[in-house]
Amino acid sequence: MKHVELECINCHTRIPLSKTVAGCPSCGEVILEARYDLSTIDVVQWLRDMENRPHSLWRFHEVLPILNTEHIVSLGEGDTPLIQSRALAASLGLKHLYIKDERQGPTASFKDRQATVAMSTLKELGVEEIVVASTGNVAISYGAYGARAGIKVWAFFPSLTPAEKMREAALYGVEVIKVTGTYDQTKELAARFAKRQGLFLDRGIKSVAAIEAMKTMAYEIAEQLGHIFNQGRRWRSPDWFIQGVSGGMGPIGAGKGFKEMFDFGLIDQMPKLAIVQSSGCAPMVEAYQRGQRIATPVEDPQTVIATLATGNPGRAYELLFDYAKEHGGAFVGVSDEEAFNATRIVARSDGISVEPAAGVAFAGLFKLVQDGVIKPNDVVVVNCSGHTMAVELQILEEDWQRHLDVSNRAHSPTMPQEGLISAIEQMDRQVKRIAVIEDNVDAARLVKRVLEARGAYEVHLAHDGESGLELVRRIRPELVITDLMMPGVDGFTLISTLTTDPTLNDMQIVVVTAKELTARERAWLKDQVDLLLQKGSAIDEDLVEMLVEKFE
Ligand SMILES: *Cc1c(COP(=O)(O)O)cnc(C)c1O
Ligand SMILES: [Zn+2]
Repeated sequence: MKHVELECINCHTRIPLSKTVAGCPSCGEVILEARYDLSTIDVVQWLRDMENRPHSLWRFHEVLPILNTEHIVSLGEGDTPLIQSRALAASLGLKHLYIKDERQGPTASFKDRQATVAMSTLKELGVEEIVVASTGNVAISYGAYGARAGIKVWAFFPSLTPAEKMREAALYGVEVIKVTGTYDQTKELAARFAKRQGLFLDRGIKSVAAIEAMKTMAYEIAEQLGHIFNQGRRWRSPDWFIQGVSGGMGPIGAGKGFKEMFDFGLIDQMPKLAIVQSSGCAPMVEAYQRGQRIATPVEDPQTVIATLATGNPGRAYELLFDYAKEHGGAFVGVSDEEAFNATRIVARSDGISVEPAAGVAFAGLFKLVQDGVIKPNDVVVVNCSGHTMAVELQILEEDWQRHLDVSNRAHSPTMPQEGLISAIEQMDRQVKRIAVIEDNVDAARLVKRVLEARGAYEVHLAHDGESGLELVRRIRPELVITDLMMPGVDGFTLISTLTTDPTLNDMQIVVVTAKELTARERAWLKDQVDLLLQKGSAIDEDLVEMLVEKFE
C-alpha cells in the first residue's frame, strides 16, 4: 500500500493527502508538496515491473497522488519519445541534444500530463464541474479528459488566445468564456466566478496534481537517458532541462521529479534548469537578472505568444530561483521574432513542428549555446512542450505562399462579373471590421497585430478622437475599441456621438483606458458601452456580475 502525505514547503508541517485543502493549516503557505514513502517498495523490482506496464505516465502511479487506480482517467498520455536531434545538434556543435516530444500527447501538448492527474484526482473526490483559466492548451486538454471523466469544464480565456484553440476546447464540450483582458485578469475573473457559483477552481501550479503530473517528465527522461547511456542498467539525469516558461509548472515539476529520484538513489546528479521566457513577458528573467527572489509582475504583457503570458508568477518563481541557486540554471529572455525563427529552424532541420511557446525554448537553447553557458558535451533535453495546431501566420515569412492564377485559361465557363463581385461582398460581410482609436501609436499597433493574427478581422487605426469619428463614419465597423484620454475630441465625446447618432448606434463599443474614473463617469460609461476595461487595474465587480448573470 502506497504511503503519501502532503508537506508544506515553508514550515514542513505534514498532513494526510487531501485534495480539497487549499494551503498549509499551520502557516498558510499555498504550496504543499506530495511526499512518498517508498521504504516498503522493493525499488529494483519496481523498476523492472515498470518496464512492462502499459504505456502512459501511470506507469509511475506509486509516486502519483491518487489512492485508488480505478479512478484513473487516461487517454494514453505521457511516455513520449526522447528524440535525438541530428542536424540541429550538429549546427549548434552539441553532442547530446534530445527533444522530449510532448507534442505526441493526446491533445498535442504536455498539459495532457496535468489533465490526466488532475481529472483522476477530481474523480476520486467526486467533483462534477470545474473552472479553469487558460491560454488554450489546459482548456483543450481538460476538455478531452473532462469528457472522459464526465466532468464539466468552464474555461476562461484571455484576449490573446488563438481562436483555433478556443474552438478545439468547445468541440470537447467546454464552456468557452472569452475575456477581453490579460491572462492574470482572466485568472482572477475565473476565480471569482468559481467562488460565486460554488464551483471547484483549478489552482494550477498551486495544486498538488499539477506538479506531480509534470514530474513524470523527469522520470521518463531519466529512464530514457538510462537506456541511451547505460544500456538501461541505471537511470541518468541530463545536464540541462530547458523549457519555454509561463507559470513554471513544467520546470518545477521536473525539478521535483529529479529531486525525488536523487533521494531514492535512482540518479546521481541534479540537472540545471533553463527557464526561457518571451521578453515581452519575462518577469522571472528580469527578476533573476537583478538578483531578486521576488518577481515584479508584468502588468501588460507585450507578446503575441499567448501560451506564455503569465505576468505574475508569484511563488512559483521563488521555487525556481531557489532551485537555480542550489543546483545551477539559467534564465533567458527571447523576442517573439527569435522564437518564430527558431520554430522555422527546428521544423526544417529536425522535422519537428512546434507551437511558438516551444519555439521559445529552442530560441533560448540557441542563446545559451552561443553564450557558452551550455557546453558541447553537455547532455541537453529540450521540453518540446506543444504542437502548433494550425500554423500561425506570424511564424512564416511574408512570401510563404506562391499563387498561380490559371482561371483565365481554364476551360470551365468564366465566372460572370456580377457573381465575382457578390462573392467578394459576401466574404467582406464575414470580416469583422474593427476601428481602434488610441493615441498611443504602439499600443494601437499591438492591438491591430494581435487581432489580425486571428485572420478574421480587418482592423483600422486612428490616433485621436476627431480622425477616429471620421474613420468610423467612413468604414462603419461592427466594433469600436477606444481610449478615453485623447487630444482634441476625447473618448467621452466620441462615445456620445456614436450612441446618439441613429446611423451609428448599432456598433459595439469597448473602452480600454488607464484613466482613473469617477463614480459618475463609470456609471455613464456603463450605460453607453458594451465593455469597459481598465488597464492595469483589477477586474471590477461589474464584470464579474455581468458574467455570472450571463451564465445563470
Ligand atoms: C503551458 C505551456 C507552457 C508553459 O508551461 P509552464 O511550465 O506552466 O510555464 C509551455 N509550452 C506549452 C505548449 C504549454 O502548453
Ligand atoms: Zn506551513
